[in-house]
Amino acid sequence: MTDLITITNNLDVEFDAALIQKLDRKGPRYTSYPTADRFTPEFAYRDYLQAVNGAITRGNVHPLSLYIHIPFCESVCYYCGCNKIVTRDRSKAATYLRYLKREIDMQGRLLAGANRVEQLHFGGGTPTYINDRQMGDLMAHLQRWFEFVPDAEGEFSIEVDPRTVSRERALSLRNQGFNRISLGVQDFDPEVQKAVNRVQPEEETRAVIAAAREAGFRSVSIDLIYGLPKQNLATMQRTLDKVIAADPDRISVYNYAHMPHLFKPQRRIADIDLPVGDTKLAMLALCIQRLTDAGYVYIGMDHFAKPTDDLAVAQRQGRLHRNFQGYSTHAEADLIACGVSAISAVGATYSQNAKTLDEYYDRIEQNELPIVRGMRLSMDDLLRRIVIQMLMCHFELSIHAIELAYPIVFNSYFRTELLELQHLEENGLLVMDEDWITVTPKGRLLIRNICMVFDHHLRTAEKDVGLMHTTSPTPQNYSRTI
Ligand code: SF4
Repeated sequence: MTDLITITNNLDVEFDAALIQKLDRKGPRYTSYPTADRFTPEFAYRDYLQAVNGAITRGNVHPLSLYIHIPFCESVCYYCGCNKIVTRDRSKAATYLRYLKREIDMQGRLLAGANRVEQLHFGGGTPTYINDRQMGDLMAHLQRWFEFVPDAEGEFSIEVDPRTVSRERALSLRNQGFNRISLGVQDFDPEVQKAVNRVQPEEETRAVIAAAREAGFRSVSIDLIYGLPKQNLATMQRTLDKVIAADPDRISVYNYAHMPHLFKPQRRIADIDLPVGDTKLAMLALCIQRLTDAGYVYIGMDHFAKPTDDLAVAQRQGRLHRNFQGYSTHAEADLIACGVSAISAVGATYSQNAKTLDEYYDRIEQNELPIVRGMRLSMDDLLRRIVIQMLMCHFELSIHAIELAYPIVFNSYFRTELLELQHLEENGLLVMDEDWITVTPKGRLLIRNICMVFDHHLRTAEKDVGLMHTTSPTPQNYSRTI
């Protein structure tokens, strides 16, 4: 089965089932390079301070992208692979917010004078687990410490669980400063919803979308998942009909990665209920076909957007970027992340907060930022990061531009990688000439395979696994590329 699907911004994506089946393998999603499993405890709080102070002293200050993590959920969705805390005890959120605000104070003090925020994202867990008053209070706290650009210039987004948001709450979120809203839908089919323990009546979701439009949110986004239990082509077709009718600005279609050895809630999903590989691939083909026919642009990985949406515009203008929240329009921003397990990216460093509430609280009690691991990127990491960014965001790489920015001869430096790329070129995933590496329409769905060639750390881990003497994270801990 080979379908050619042409999309509207002159970028093509071609679905080639045989090729996908042949090359599909496990690999990172490259929301960062190096990936978070390379972080070590040798990089901690003081290294982060040094990185921030160094950037401020050198006047090398970028606008900020702020990420706020709210880890709580009221019930567990069986497909979940996130770092979350499932509880109905609301007092836990009140305690968490007290500590979160102390962390924000510390970051605010550290970044005084370099605190212009162009982008804000609330993720989780379920950010709307905290109530309206708590959210208003938290936003006011952020606004005291950081200087937010005007609404028309900034991108201030929140992930919501439609089950937790009324019309009034949606209006309130807009008043509190959010201008983008992202709704977790996953699937509209009642049987699928039951199988994943996320029963969410369609009317409820439609009401939240209507309220978001009424409130004046600039962009409404919907998340879907393919490969869930009880899903088939017919249920997917019906879900897509409803999603397209709801007319969101962005749609994400994630591949469900069934890894019950890593994620306990997934053990509640019976293997027999999962769609088999061929059906799953056909569902992906259907999603691409239906969404591009409906006028959405394929941005890359799991993301589609209307041609007028900022993501599609940024991609056309070569400004698209990838960070821990996925694709982003703010390439130059340093990412400051607050909350348990959150990951910041400042200059050539990554730093991650403690992953358990106890440790997170404990560090803050000591008046320290709760950073417990991270890494400082080497020149090689920075070079590979930009190569992977270009490929993920723009599907092409100018060898000349890399040689202008870095003191290397590309063909010598990446001799091994170029040999491997030849194999992917023979399979039709890309074309190479003296100056460009260009991903073909059929290579776009397999972009992770192409990026993995440039992943030095992954290569080392694979070599170690081959020799059977590694304790490093192995490729087996990643999801499949499709
Ligand atoms: S999928 Fe989202 S809402 Fe469901 S348990 Fe995981 S983090 Fe919570």
